[in-house]
Amino acid sequence: MANTFLKITGLKVAYGGIKAVKGVDLEVNEGELVTLIGSNGAGKTTTMKAITGSLPMAEGDIEYLGKSIRGKGAWDLVKEGLAMVPEGRGVFMRMTIAENLHMGAYIRNDKAGIADDVEKMFTIFPRLRERKDQLAGTMSGGEQQMLAMGRALMSRPKVLLLDEPSMGLSPIMVDKIFEVVRDVSANGVTILLVEQNASRALGVANRGYVMESGVISMNGPAKDLLSDPRVRAAYLGE
Ligand code: ATP
Repeated sequence: MANTFLKITGLKVAYGGIKAVKGVDLEVNEGELVTLIGSNGAGKTTTMKAITGSLPMAEGDIEYLGKSIRGKGAWDLVKEGLAMVPEGRGVFMRMTIAENLHMGAYIRNDKAGIADDVEKMFTIFPRLRERKDQLAGTMSGGEQQMLAMGRALMSRPKVLLLDEPSMGLSPIMVDKIFEVVRDVSANGVTILLVEQNASRALGVANRGYVMESGVISMNGPAKDLLSDPRVRAAYLGE
């Protein structure tokens, strides 16, 4: 049996009286790339925010490496190896590319290892090397997405949460982002990928969950979902 790295059980999250997540069960096992797809407003981002502790759980529980995350903040979780790239990227606009990458390593104090990893990020994303002294706020959306992913990887995560990394990007950037997601996964990082781009997400994932109006309506191997007529009709425009 594979190790379960992330286990969500009966999760409910509300914004005041508005129930956004209404009882979600989801698991991500060691080494897996799992995607959570669904249309606008389905509750995907709300689920992600509950995992990182930025929204409180109304009911249910989320376990990371077998322990409840209840009461933990994003900082504690990053220290334990759970890193997140939020929707909208969240890079530090008034810092340079290089400074943003160093911020990602704030939990580490192995100077040489950090320098090696910055170099690694520049190899994965050559564009970041070209612009390393430029302020993040002057970069394009795709470049900021690369930077946000690089920054999260600088913490050497066990699990990486990605919230809609392809949103608003040009087709070439989308290709690059999915290529990196696949490579990061191949290098042993466990990934939970939230996406509206269902075909691309299911194309790289091992398993998928479909979210509709706050509940999981389907789940299974990504290739089965990709060929499921209901998924094709609802999310692949067929
Ligand atoms: P998107 O792709 O648009 O981000 P999503 O699947 O991530 O969609 P959520 O952002 O999780 O969806 O939103 C789920 C529901 O919760 C939606 O009905 C949304 O309007 C509502 N919601 C989200 N944030 C808030 C908020 N701060 N206050 C009130 N309602 C909210």
